[in-house]
Amino acid sequence: MTLIIKIESLLLNLWLDIQTMQKKVLIQPLFRTMFKTGIFPYLISVFFIALTTLLCYPLAEKESYHLVSYILLFVVFIMATFMRLGPVLLAAGVSSLIWNFYFIPPHQTLHIEKPEDILMFALFFSIALLNGVLTTRVRRQEELAREREERTNSLFQLTKELSKAGSIDEVLAIAIQEIKNQFSVNTFFILQDGNNILYSTGRLQKEKKLNSTEYNIAEWSFKNGSEAGAFTDKMNSGEYTFYPLPGTKLVPGVLAVKLDRKFPEEKKTFWLTFITQISNSLEREFLAEVATKARFLDESDRLYKTLFSSISHEFRIPVATIMGASETLLNSSHPMNIQSALFSEIFSASLRLNRLIENLLNMSRLESGLLSVRLDWCDINDVFNKVAEDLKDDLKPFSLLVSIPENMPLVKIDFGLMEQILYNLIFNSTQYSPVASEIKLISAHENNELTITVEDKGPGFPESELKNVFSKFFRVDGRKTGGLGLGLSIVKGFVEAHNGKITVENIARGGSVFTIKIPSANPDINNLLLESE
Ligand code: ADP
Repeated sequence: MTLIIKIESLLLNLWLDIQTMQKKVLIQPLFRTMFKTGIFPYLISVFFIALTTLLCYPLAEKESYHLVSYILLFVVFIMATFMRLGPVLLAAGVSSLIWNFYFIPPHQTLHIEKPEDILMFALFFSIALLNGVLTTRVRRQEELAREREERTNSLFQLTKELSKAGSIDEVLAIAIQEIKNQFSVNTFFILQDGNNILYSTGRLQKEKKLNSTEYNIAEWSFKNGSEAGAFTDKMNSGEYTFYPLPGTKLVPGVLAVKLDRKFPEEKKTFWLTFITQISNSLEREFLAEVATKARFLDESDRLYKTLFSSISHEFRIPVATIMGASETLLNSSHPMNIQSALFSEIFSASLRLNRLIENLLNMSRLESGLLSVRLDWCDINDVFNKVAEDLKDDLKPFSLLVSIPENMPLVKIDFGLMEQILYNLIFNSTQYSPVASEIKLISAHENNELTITVEDKGPGFPESELKNVFSKFFRVDGRKTGGLGLGLSIVKGFVEAHNGKITVENIARGGSVFTIKIPSANPDINNLLLESE
């Protein structure tokens, strides 16, 4: 009796060991792959029963065949925990026969003498069978639950990753990586061009080139919304399998996979859910891209039309002036005073034309990103004097008040760009302020920052328009024009090229003030020395 208890506890320990061993990540996959394929598991099951029989053989003589039946049942049970049903049933059948043949008296015959042994044999066979069937079923259910959990987790992970993507390229990169992690296959995407024509994205895997047959298969899969290519029943030539990407509003494209065998049926639903998830994200980005493109086209169209109408309108006036005045001068002789009036008209019309062209050129420099900023230590006095000189005729009817602190240091700016900034602002003041009013040009330098303000006593800006003042083609309705509505947006662009900021405010008692703030370190000896090195 003690022997039986000892053997039982030994077997129990062995069983627990096997359970722990099974759970070990390294061993489990090995066991699984070993036992899941072909006839190998059947051979293994017979081998284990034979081995157990051999080990228990000494007990045959001791009439301990009941104990042997427990041991065999236990071995069948263990097999059921990691083998499929077929090998387990074989083990149950073989172990019953072997038990009968070698252990139930009379030995080495299938004949059973005692009726209770016949009953015992029938019980053994039924228990072995039930044991095998139930254990494999429980195990299968556990496997299914685990698989379901793993799939839910990986879908959650995919959704989480995809939600971070902000462009089609990012969705594709995440999708390819996640598919590789989950299904261990290499994939690439072929996206449509927005007009329902498939083309190789070239965005991610430039080396992926499809030959014409493969392209046809991809196109077929895209058009028919059905998988095609290798290992499918549609156009199964070529090495890729193509899966259409399902979408609600549009089909973003197809997914190409290089498989080495048919996709396992049991994974198919999971695979299709995975693709649908990716496709949804792609579709979302696709639609966003199409909307952005449409907005961009709309915007460019609008800007083009505005520019075109402004140019044709604003250019026509000075050109007509020049043509008219020069024609009058050419066709008849006039007294000197009329001649000089006509020349001065031609001159100011040319200046106006020149300003328009300057603004257009500056705008295109800003838009193309070709604007280069050459910062140098400048005396702000020189810049102010230059602008006042350039605008001396326009400033004649006004009083220009310039204020520069005594201790104003040199400032690091681009002389040419700053001249253009102040030119545009002061020129505007001369255009919109009442004659004889004061225009103030003030500079200050504090905390490594240069501040310049241009203040006038003009009409200011409608409060609701203040936020649009620096937009391209901005004009206050009903106010006289003379430019293209580009001057202030150029000013903003040039200030920002200095890493600075410009703001505009209305003054309560009338007029407006533009404030420019540009970072400008003190030109102390250390800074100057550092630069001369
Ligand atoms: P433009 O080259 O046509 O003058 P700007 O961008 O320089 O274009 O100016 C845009 C519009 O802002 C002008 O058409 C005018 O209506 C208004 N504006 C600009 N400067 C002033 C100002 N100092 N006072 C009042 N209105 C101004």
